[in-house]
Amino acid sequence: MNILAINGGEKVRTKPFPAYNTIGKEEEEATLRVLRSGKLSTYLGTWHDDFYGGTEVQALEREWELFFGVKHAISVNSATSGLYAAVGALGIQAGDEIIVSPYTMSASATAALIYGAIAIFADIEEDYYCLDIEDIERKITSKTKAIIIVDIFGGVHDNKRLLALAEKYNLKIIEDSAQAPGVKYEDKYIGTLCDIGIYSLNYHKHIHSGEGGIIVTNDDELAHKLRLIRNHGEAVLGAKGFTCKEELNNMVGFNYRMTEIEAAIAREQLKKLPALIKQRLKNVAYLNEKLSQIPCLKIPKIRENSQHAFYVHPLQFDENIAKVHRDTFIDAVKKELPRTLLREESEVLLSYGYAKPLYMLPMYQERIAFGEYPFNLSDVDYKNVKCPVVEDMHYNRLVTHEFMRPGMLESDMDDVVKAFKKVWEHRDELEH
Ligand SMILES: *Cc1c(COP(=O)(O)O)cnc(C)c1O
Repeated sequence: MNILAINGGEKVRTKPFPAYNTIGKEEEEATLRVLRSGKLSTYLGTWHDDFYGGTEVQALEREWELFFGVKHAISVNSATSGLYAAVGALGIQAGDEIIVSPYTMSASATAALIYGAIAIFADIEEDYYCLDIEDIERKITSKTKAIIIVDIFGGVHDNKRLLALAEKYNLKIIEDSAQAPGVKYEDKYIGTLCDIGIYSLNYHKHIHSGEGGIIVTNDDELAHKLRLIRNHGEAVLGAKGFTCKEELNNMVGFNYRMTEIEAAIAREQLKKLPALIKQRLKNVAYLNEKLSQIPCLKIPKIRENSQHAFYVHPLQFDENIAKVHRDTFIDAVKKELPRTLLREESEVLLSYGYAKPLYMLPMYQERIAFGEYPFNLSDVDYKNVKCPVVEDMHYNRLVTHEFMRPGMLESDMDDVVKAFKKVWEHRDELEH
């Protein structure tokens, strides 16, 4: 224990951490029920009773509406599809601008480009990593039509100020809550706070059906459009009897449909969500208490009047206290710890920062998406984008890990804490 693993000493632990596996008997039975029925999907892309999907798909949607207290839940094959459909339903057009976060999974920004809109990046908040409302306001122009806000890591954005800003400038808001299902801001579920909200059911999320997504809205008209975009809208608008030309805008449909097996699995997963969140919160409380004793680490703040879903557990690293760079310190902690079973077999679930700030992707830097389109509709130069907070977080300060997933016991988390403590105590032995 006295020599750091990175310097040839023994690791704190070699036995892999337990798997996060939420799939059990219930999902197995649900899958068999669908398989035996022979109806793996009953969607039809024409105007018909089956236009809205089969029994499992529709049951999932009604159950989601009840759980989240929202008028419409619309299932799709991924949260990415959900984001694309949301931009379409809001009537976004080529050359419009959408303000997006640079610190998120790429699709939360790419969604703008699909309809020819331009993604404009604003900076994030130091404490919560969500879009900074003041910087959003600085980035608003006469072309701005919408904001895609992300409840990153499972914590909610500054909703009160965002809604006030949206009203002042007449902007629509899409809430990407892929990482924040099942927790509340004031008395409402995160994801239901804006015009349209999106959840993900991919393998890495709190609950999953392999792949999948759910869109939510309280607006009947938007729900109608979202369902059209999901399932070949252009093929049914005539039969449904459209009333005005405006209704045609962006109604070029896709096939974003969820299968019956995915829906049946998602129904069982939804039942498990409250217990899974509770376990995560319990684990986070345990880790917060222990990790806050390490002087160079700052545990996450939680926004007033809100809960946090802790998709990851974000910590802030203080180089001035540690006297080594974050990356050097984290490299050493990683060497002390084992991989985690099942989902990321080969990985130690500990990272420097999160995803690289999105405006640094070659697509933006070189302004090439669909050829030059849609960037040729704008003179935005992503080489000049300055978001100092996100860059400092990503390259110097933020540490994220997933050692709080359900399945981790206190004894497992104790090893995580031991690894951080060992590196803290031996930090002078790290290469500077
Ligand atoms: C996972 C994720 C998505 C995309 O979800 P998919 O279902 O894989 O398309 C979008 N936004 C955020 C913030 C995510 O974490």
